[in-house]
Amino acid sequence: MKSVIWGIVFFIFITVFMPMFIISSCDISVKNTDKPKEKNIVESDLIITMYNDNTDEIVEIGLEKYTIGVVAGEAPAEFEIEALKAQAVAARTYALWRRSLYKGKGHPDHPGALVCNNHAHCQEWLSKEQLKERHGDNWIENHLPKIEEAVMSTKGIIMTYNMQPIEPLYHSTSGGRTENSEDVFSTAVPYLRGVSSPYEEGSPVLVDLYEISIKDFISGIKDNHDDFSINEKRISSEIDVLERTDGGTIKRIKIGNKEFSGREIRELFDLRSADFTVDVKFNSIKFTTRGYGHGVGMSQWGANGMAKKNKTFDEILKHYYNGTDLSVLKSYNE
Ligand SMILES: [Zn+2]
Repeated sequence: MKSVIWGIVFFIFITVFMPMFIISSCDISVKNTDKPKEKNIVESDLIITMYNDNTDEIVEIGLEKYTIGVVAGEAPAEFEIEALKAQAVAARTYALWRRSLYKGKGHPDHPGALVCNNHAHCQEWLSKEQLKERHGDNWIENHLPKIEEAVMSTKGIIMTYNMQPIEPLYHSTSGGRTENSEDVFSTAVPYLRGVSSPYEEGSPVLVDLYEISIKDFISGIKDNHDDFSINEKRISSEIDVLERTDGGTIKRIKIGNKEFSGREIRELFDLRSADFTVDVKFNSIKFTTRGYGHGVGMSQWGANGMAKKNKTFDEILKHYYNGTDLSVLKSYNE
């Protein structure tokens, strides 16, 4: 009996009091337009552990400095400032979400480190030296300050749901509508709902074409599925899209004797998205994709389109992450 009572006390502590220690929610429709001071950039109350894929080392890095490197790696600096601010909040939230999941243990794929600098696994993070190498000195002078401003003017702000940091998935371009999380991944997440994303016309990857010979198309599937067969002579009637999500992603497609998810075909042929059409040409297959990425959470180009329509970063985030709050890490308020 005693252990049950202690269990209840522990549960209440974990679910009610613990989050209060971590974050204090507040209404942030505030626009902090103060120019950040240079010295603030390296200051942070929170230290994040990051595995550096290039050097095979775990480094400790201040949260805001980490966020600057992620925004610089994940978003074009030409973006509107409000879109960069939205990206900064998402990038910062990602680290806190990982922290809430793994605490000091780190991610199982890189034990001891909450995040890594590899965009295919966590979020891309670039050091100032790497940015200089990639974009040149002029970029550092002309563009980096804008990214730093986006980060420092949202310092300590993260997105929460039920007082917990959210998993802030984002992608380049949705193709007009984002996806429900369960249609792409396995879990339904209340704040990752499909929403319209109408202002993506600025995206260079809104529509993309990819053509492959019929021979390579067939061998591409066969290499991964031994039991795959298809009638090459009437190939156009052998490809049939069976189901799409509301956001346009192919849920099920029948090719020859097998059924695939759009995601499988996307991965097999390295397509920009799983929202595609297939046309059979004389001796080739033409894929036309809409959008770029998994389509869940914030569309970066959609966010930039909203910013161009004078939406603020909090309006952008609340559009793409349904029912979330913006909260300030408590230590930043003290
Ligand atoms: Zn990682």
